[in-house]
Amino acid sequence: MTGYTMLINGEAVAGDESFDVLNPSTDKVLATCPSGSQEDLENAVAAAKGALPDWSALPIEERSACLLRMADRLEENLAALAALLSAEQGKPVEGYAGLGANFEVGGCLAWIRYTAGLTLPVEVVQDNEQARIEVHRKPVGVVGSITPWNYPLLITCWHIVPALLAGCSVVVKPSEYTPLTVLKAMHLVADLFPPGVLNVIAGPGAVGAAMAAHGGINKIVFTGSTATGKRIMEAAAGNIKRLTLELGGNDAAIVLPDVDVEEVAGKIFATSMINNGQTCAALKRLYVHDDIYDELCEALARLAASVTTGPANEAPDFGPLQNRQQFNKVCALADAAAREGAVFLSGGRPLDMPGYFFPVTIVRDIQDSSELVTTEQFGPILPVMRFTDIDDVIRRSNALELGLGGSVWSADTVRATELASRLECGTAWVNDHAAIQPDAPFGGAKESGLGVEFGVHGLLEYTQIQTVQICKC
Ligand code: NDP
Repeated sequence: MTGYTMLINGEAVAGDESFDVLNPSTDKVLATCPSGSQEDLENAVAAAKGALPDWSALPIEERSACLLRMADRLEENLAALAALLSAEQGKPVEGYAGLGANFEVGGCLAWIRYTAGLTLPVEVVQDNEQARIEVHRKPVGVVGSITPWNYPLLITCWHIVPALLAGCSVVVKPSEYTPLTVLKAMHLVADLFPPGVLNVIAGPGAVGAAMAAHGGINKIVFTGSTATGKRIMEAAAGNIKRLTLELGGNDAAIVLPDVDVEEVAGKIFATSMINNGQTCAALKRLYVHDDIYDELCEALARLAASVTTGPANEAPDFGPLQNRQQFNKVCALADAAAREGAVFLSGGRPLDMPGYFFPVTIVRDIQDSSELVTTEQFGPILPVMRFTDIDDVIRRSNALELGLGGSVWSADTVRATELASRLECGTAWVNDHAAIQPDAPFGGAKESGLGVEFGVHGLLEYTQIQTVQICKC
């Protein structure tokens, strides 16, 4: 399958070079994708810069209307987009708990429609006989969006929709593992925007690195690994780029002994395995009180035994991991934990078939020091650790440099809320985890990121304050 093109200044651009995109369910080529050159990047940035004055001068209501039309256009093509997303990313169209490709495309619609309704009112901080002082929000300029392979389309929408609403123009670079759905979706909506406002350039990490260093780009919004986030931060220093970085997570959850074990097991299982564990804010380290440790481990193991993992087009609960690099990482971490003596209640070894299949895995009696616990494994493995002392488990939960999310589970929500507030993370949940929504700010503490996305707080990240001071005396 060919025919994918980049989008530069409203035109389809085939590029001089291309690369193969693999189907993770088969390890075979799904399609070829154009690879952007430095010249393509220069053209995309120039187009974005050229489109900026007129686009930012439009009333926000007009930009909002374009975005609402974008949501409608994506909705009209939901089934085709979800099918392509499933093929290239590996997530089933429906999937466990209905959290597959349909859910991702549906999420795009929800986020676009909510965000398009936000406004940027002028704030008046003083208005008296001396002066009137207004705080205006102006667009930051050309935004470079660099996206990962776990939720390719949803994260693209999270990046570009507030940017476009604020009056910025954008250049998007999807992950080389999953560029197809983003290219297809952006071409579907291209005619809704003036040429140059929305540009997409495909290619490897080097294209992202060139964007991070490009003097014509005013802000980078990036979702991906902490290591790459740090490289982007260094490269961005050249022109003091604004940054929003949504980086890795290795979220801890603490389960107190007063919970209904069966009930929380179901919720914990779903949230730790969401998108096959390839979710930045998935529950990744489970600390369970000694009194209910065995019971909860057994309930999780029963759930693991009840689900299927297989090729995305066979409607399993879970598909493959997205790429070979990720598959190898998950296999190596599981092997190391097994060698250290951790006890596997399910899974633990890759499935013997083509594609990158690793079954849902529950691990107990594992040390906090195991790499499976200390590393963002980003796979369908849940390590379950035991605790007795609450202060000690809070310390263990906060011991890592990452701090995206965290949760406390208890029948006593007042106590759980107090404990959750002691977790060093950007979002603290009580009796839930990884629950996000378009109006609640989401971002990482410590090395999990910089800035926030979503809602009005997220929108403001695409703006620069201009204070206007009118002297009256
Ligand atoms: P990366 O962070 O390397 O990739 C994310 C995006 O950044 C991709 O578009 C990638 O391009 C691009 N990129 C790579 N290098 C650079 C660079 N120097 N400058 C600018 N952009 C760059 O993630 P990986 O794919 O390597 O995954 C590794 C680990 O990262 C995972 O195992 C997981 O732990 C974590 N991760 C976290 C995510 C999250 O949601 N927070 C999402 C994905 C991964 P290209 O793909 O073309 O190389």
